[in-house]
Amino acid sequence: MAARILDGKALAERVRGEIATRTARLAHQSGQQPALAVILVGANPASAVYVRNKVAACEKVGIRSLRHDFSEDVAPDEVFECIAKLNADPQVHGILVQLPLPPQFDEREVLAAIALEKDVDGFHAENVGHLSQGLECFIPCTPHGAMKMLESENVTIQGAEAVVIGRSNIVGKPMAMLLTNAGATVTVCHSKTRDLASHTRRADILVAAVGRPCFITGDMVKPGATVIDVGINRIESGPRAGKLCGDVDFDSVVDVAGLISPVPGGVGPMTITMLLENTVIAAERAARKGR
Ligand code: NAD
Repeated sequence: MAARILDGKALAERVRGEIATRTARLAHQSGQQPALAVILVGANPASAVYVRNKVAACEKVGIRSLRHDFSEDVAPDEVFECIAKLNADPQVHGILVQLPLPPQFDEREVLAAIALEKDVDGFHAENVGHLSQGLECFIPCTPHGAMKMLESENVTIQGAEAVVIGRSNIVGKPMAMLLTNAGATVTVCHSKTRDLASHTRRADILVAAVGRPCFITGDMVKPGATVIDVGINRIESGPRAGKLCGDVDFDSVVDVAGLISPVPGGVGPMTITMLLENTVIAAERAARKGR
């Protein structure tokens, strides 16, 4: 039997409706409209699309967005100055620096410059520390979106064998932390893992965040498993050239898994949704503190 589809687009629509309600309530109660500042350096086409989508999504739920665009060769000090101003601005609740940055930047330094209470991407080292200890923090948007998808389908996480493929700071590691905090037994696989399939075949929950098109095939998946495909890859040649695909070979895995998230229409829409939610949370916290 073919797997059920985990419809991230529909879930994102629902959650965005709730966010719009919270935004309106906050504006009514405190006179504050949540605001997200987005910093884009250079002209990376993929980054430009991501930023455009984020800004458009903000508008739809009543979040004000402020764009700060810099040229590819900008001096880092100029960007740090911008971040410092945004940190000090009480009308700004979230700050996002679109990654990757050009080589003159140390990304870690840039992320560390963002005020903790405005770090809506959740990439600040202190935020990551809080996440690892299960404390209140901003949860990085992509893994947070994936967790919400699991919750929306009542997937049993406690006691489950979970395998995360990928150990990046923005997806793999925080995903593994969230699953661990939720009671799963987690294995993190990566480019140096030997016999990957021996791990993936044990997984009740399999999360692929690799960046390689159709990398996970049906024979690597345990029958009935829940498969979350985080990958976003552009197909380079053949009849589907130019289209997006995930890290999971959907056509072969759909016949083995019990539940599967598609690409597009899976984790992608949930990622932006979690950014919106984090921004509203930041604004609500600021309002509670009277700022
Ligand atoms: P990354 O390049 O930083 O990390 C990729 C990880 O895959 C690494 O940890 C690496 O060790 C692992 N890997 C590479 N080859 C492997 C192999 N042969 N076997 C096992 N592991 C291997 O990428 P990332 O930023 O974590 O993103 C991963 C994917 O998720 C990309 O396709 C990216 O576009 C996508 N992504 C999607 C969203 C979303 O909103 N859906 C957000 C962020 C990233």
